[in-house]
Amino acid sequence: MGLEENYYSVSEGIRKAAEKAGRDPSSVRLLAVSKKQDPEKLRVLWNCGQRVFGENRVQEARTKIPEMPSGGEWHFIGGLQTNKAKEAVEWFDVVESVDRMDLAEELQKRAEIAGKKIRVLLEVNVGGEAAKHGCRPEKAGDLMKRVRALTRLEVQGLMAIPPFREDPENARPFFRKLREIRDHLEQSEGVALPELSMGMSHDHAVAIAEGATLVRIGTALFGPRK
Ligand SMILES: *Cc1c(COP(=O)(O)O)cnc(C)c1O
Repeated sequence: MGLEENYYSVSEGIRKAAEKAGRDPSSVRLLAVSKKQDPEKLRVLWNCGQRVFGENRVQEARTKIPEMPSGGEWHFIGGLQTNKAKEAVEWFDVVESVDRMDLAEELQKRAEIAGKKIRVLLEVNVGGEAAKHGCRPEKAGDLMKRVRALTRLEVQGLMAIPPFREDPENARPFFRKLREIRDHLEQSEGVALPELSMGMSHDHAVAIAEGATLVRIGTALFGPRK
């Protein structure tokens, strides 16, 4: 199938999954994961109406984003080194992978210098996997408190990359866990955390059933990456 067909079938799948879960389909947004894809392909999606894109490398994004029409919403979704915070602030609207204080403080400093505010999500390692980024679930409350004190960062919610499960049903407990952590933080901190970024190509329907508001999809749109 072509990219446009993929786009419409993924969008339709998201709408159906939301309806099945009794949710308003407009409460779930598609984030097109455009890492390793050429700008021409991104422009095909742009012409279909897609505006939200995700990249996981600053070096790649800074050459790609200028080749796109302005007015898109760019999310940084990869592990972010502190020394890349300056460029991340320059190029991205949302950093989804804030998982530690030194990174948050550097983003604050760079946003201050740039005279900007930056939206962030806190990444939580819901599967407790050693190789993955994200703060430990039991540290999320403390991180939330401290990041919320940073005036240039606007915390909008949480993000997770759960362990891969062949059967997406088996990823459900991880999606549920992220939602529960969010619900708990909203209560304990008295703050609104509307965004839950969770679910990828093969498991986003389950993530939507558990409350995802942003699904990050690459392969189902573009096919396998190079
Ligand atoms: C690559 C990537 C995705 C997209 O994965 P697909 O399986 O290709 O949909 C989603 N989230 C993050 C953080 C990624 O790095």
